Amino acid sequence: MAIVELNNVEVSYGAIKALRGVTCTVEGGAVGLLGPNGAGKSTLLRTLLGFIRADAGEASLFGYRLPAEALEARQRLGYMPERDAVARKVSAVSFLTYCGCLFGMQRSDAMERAHEVLNYVGMGDSRYRKMQTYSTGMCQRIKFAQALVHDPKLLLLDEPTNGLDPEGRLEMLELIKELVTKRGVTVLLSSHLLPDVEHVCDHVLVIHQGRIVREGSIGELTTARENLFEIRVREHQEAYRNALETAGCVLQTLPNGNLLVEKPARLEPRVFFELARAQNTHVRHFVAVRHRLEEVFMQAIGRH
Ligand code: ADP
Repeated sequence: MAIVELNNVEVSYGAIKALRGVTCTVEGGAVGLLGPNGAGKSTLLRTLLGFIRADAGEASLFGYRLPAEALEARQRLGYMPERDAVARKVSAVSFLTYCGCLFGMQRSDAMERAHEVLNYVGMGDSRYRKMQTYSTGMCQRIKFAQALVHDPKLLLLDEPTNGLDPEGRLEMLELIKELVTKRGVTVLLSSHLLPDVEHVCDHVLVIHQGRIVREGSIGELTTARENLFEIRVREHQEAYRNALETAGCVLQTLPNGNLLVEKPARLEPRVFFELARAQNTHVRHFVAVRHRLEEVFMQAIGRH
């Protein structure tokens, strides 16, 4: 059974069609939801949360149909919104205990669970201070913790690294990854930061103008480019460069000193090794350059 299943879902705000027939499934793992501003990412998340009703199509979570069985679905669903969502006048412990109670836990259980998730996100004694004294990074961790308090099986994360410094960002991404790999939680990560998606996700959905325009595993989408290679030879680099150019290749030297070589389609890759031998040198490094996720994304949304 798919964890998320959408079939031709349409959502409008008055005359504005925000989702125009979205069909997709999420079976598990970490899935990145990528799209430019206004693409429909938040609308999609809000539809899954049951905040918005679809005008047409079918949506279900864990096999529960939305909106009819939204309550059952919500019990298994955690949400980290993009906007500020912490209560600044209380401590993180009080706030998370309250969140646990909202999910139907007894107060003592909710408090125990609050401490567990605070430990998990690395909050120390500052958990007892009012949250108005917290840094952006701490607030972001609390938002993450509140999404976990009821031990959900699916997490919807909306720009979870917003406002974090590079170290905090890496910590957040590692926490997300650990949930997926060690605890079997499914994550749908909405982000405009492609490196974040590449760090955490194994699968992406690209949404544009209310439609899913590309989807697949990152490995499938970023296939090797046919004619582009990164090469380093041991010696006689200048002679090797000249030989490649004479054979019709286009060269560029990369910051790491390697050559980026685009070969004409008519040449076989073995020519790189033959030319090296002819120039009395050896190929020390040879990889086919893959399409970057950014290129796949830009192409999917019609920008180059
Ligand atoms: P994203 O999260 O990808 O930036 P949204 O889902 O927020 O995109 O928006 C999709 C489209 O719906 C955009 O054209 C946006 O302007 C419009 N939209 C979003 N929320 C509302 C709203 N509350 N009222 C009217 N239009 C909205």
